[in-house]
Parts: sequence; C-alpha cells; structure tokens
Amino acid sequence: MKIAISACLLGDKVRYDGKDQLNKQLVKLLKKHHIIKICPEISSGFDIPRKAMEIKDDRVINIDNEDLTDKLIEGCRICFDKASDCDLIILKSKSPSCGYGQTYDGTFTNTLINKNGLFSQMCIDNKMKVYTEKDIEILKEILK
Ligand code: SF4
Repeated sequence: MKIAISACLLGDKVRYDGKDQLNKQLVKLLKKHHIIKICPEISSGFDIPRKAMEIKDDRVINIDNEDLTDKLIEGCRICFDKASDCDLIILKSKSPSCGYGQTYDGTFTNTLINKNGLFSQMCIDNKMKVYTEKDIEILKEILK
C-alpha cells in the first residue's frame, strides 16, 4: 500500500519544539509499505523551532496572535499533492495541521475541542481515509 504519514511520527524532529513524536509500532507496521512523509508546517516554510499554533474561530494563530492560516494552507496544498494518490494517511493527533477529530482551542491553555487540523480537514474533504497514531489496533489489521 502507498501510505502518507506525518513526518514527526517517523522520528523527524520537525515539531514546533524541535522534537519528534516517533512511534516505533507504526514504523514497524509500515516496513513493507511505500511511505510518503509529509509535514504541512515545514512545507509552509515555518522554522524549527517555532511558536506553538492553535486553531481559533477557523483561523490558525500562534501564541502572539499572528494569523498564519494562509501560510499554512500553502503547505497543506503541497503535502496534499504528495499524498492525494495514497491508499490511506496516518496523521499526528491534536496538531493544528495534522490533528484528526480533536485539536486545541486557540486559548493556549491545553484545552481540546472536537475539530480537525487544516491538513486533516483537506484530506477528509477529498475523501481520503484518515487515521492517527491512536488507531494503532485498526492499522495493525489493515497493514498486516
Ligand atoms: Fe508533525 Fe504534522 Fe506538526 Fe509536522 S505539522 S510536526 S507532521 S504534526
């Protein structure tokens, strides 16, 4: 299968804080598959490290209230072009870009709301099958 995945889940240190979110179970599961790594925030040209971003009223802001929505949409489009022919996509939960189902509410108080990140929403709108690292048990069945 051809699978697009958030680069931080594979160990790339691309998060806002310069860290990764390596998920060894996923790495093992994906060994036999064709992998396309994506990071919408890096494709948008953001630095590592960078200020944390959250979604507020459908806009992506950082902690200084700068509106970064348009810049992030550009990176999402670049990643979507790479991922659009994949069989499924695995995204990092809770991110304002990759988050699926839940993300932080724009108050920078660690408060989650039921909302998708920008890239995740773009994938859903285009009928892609989206999973997160939290779906590991389902993914074990699909990718065996
Ligand atoms: Fe990971 Fe996605 Fe954030 Fe990039 S934008 S660091 S791939 S969660």
